[in-house]
Amino acid sequence: MRHAAFEIFVKQHLPNLTNTPPNGWRYIVPETGHLVGPFTGWAQLYQNLKLHYDAAGYDMPEDIFDKVEAQICENYQEYCGGGPSLFKRFVGGVAGLSHTYHNAFQCLATLISNMAGGGERPDQTLADSRAAACVECPENGEIEGCTHCNMKTLRHAIERIVGSRKTPSDGALKFCKVCHCNNKAKIWVKHEAIWKFTSDANKKRLPETCWLKVEAPDD
Ligand code: SF4
Repeated sequence: MRHAAFEIFVKQHLPNLTNTPPNGWRYIVPETGHLVGPFTGWAQLYQNLKLHYDAAGYDMPEDIFDKVEAQICENYQEYCGGGPSLFKRFVGGVAGLSHTYHNAFQCLATLISNMAGGGERPDQTLADSRAAACVECPENGEIEGCTHCNMKTLRHAIERIVGSRKTPSDGALKFCKVCHCNNKAKIWVKHEAIWKFTSDANKKRLPETCWLKVEAPDD
């Protein structure tokens, strides 16, 4: 029998998020058998997968990037490869695996695609108070870096949301360990654009002091 650690160690990864894999970003959704894609970018595939899962009445898996990556790498092994970060992930344990660059990017892509629509964008006072709550929160933490990922992509996504806005707490804002989003970006997004796409499981994990919970409408 092969050891579970071995399975993790040999897992292949896409070399980066910016290049289009052979035959495009695509995913056959196991729940429906439907092929979504191909697209030239991950963000495009992510948005279309979300639409497909919603239309089919399923919750999109939280680890959708890992599933897409596994499917693409299974078909294009020469394009994918292992790496030293895998060992780091393994010794970091399960908690480390769940708070990664991929999750952070996925969350930011969701925020960007849902920024339009109804609701007010937070003003400076609200953003300042949200930021202060995050800084005091035990869920405000670093994400695991990834040598195969382009950190620039993550920074651009954050800049796209934040623009030139600032709060006094910016220097201490990291990533939310519950939803994996960057807190510096998240505090500038209207509540409904986040809340609507927060799973029930994650809502339950939010501390009572979390601004997302405090601002939530009564059921
Ligand atoms: S749980 Fe809420 S307050 Fe805590 S880091 Fe995440 S968003 Fe900020």
